Amino acid sequence: MVTCKPLDIEYLKKLAKQSTHKIRECDGKKITVSNVQRARRILKILERDKFKCVKCPKIKYLTIDHITKALRNGKGKRDNQRAWNYKLEDCQTLCVKCHREKNREDVKNGNKTR
Ligand SMILES: [Zn+2]
Repeated sequence: MVTCKPLDIEYLKKLAKQSTHKIRECDGKKITVSNVQRARRILKILERDKFKCVKCPKIKYLTIDHITKALRNGKGKRDNQRAWNYKLEDCQTLCVKCHREKNREDVKNGNKTR
């Protein structure tokens, strides 16, 4: 079962502004360098897609989708650790609804790359 939680864009913006040299916490949450780098990456994708779902006009409840499913490791499992090393072109902004639909399609197609 894949759950896609909408991104907290305001929080990501705060996170992206943190220095990667001295990591402490942001909004009371403990953060690491990779949290900050991930936030910056996500924001780059969102900015490119104009903070809007690429499939419908929604600007709320956005998530990041990996277009290709190449991020699966050899065992066919999702490799979330490495997911954020993927090229920006391989990611797109989707709202929760479109993301769910796409996941359903992916499952139907045996997780094949579209
Ligand atoms: Zn959508």
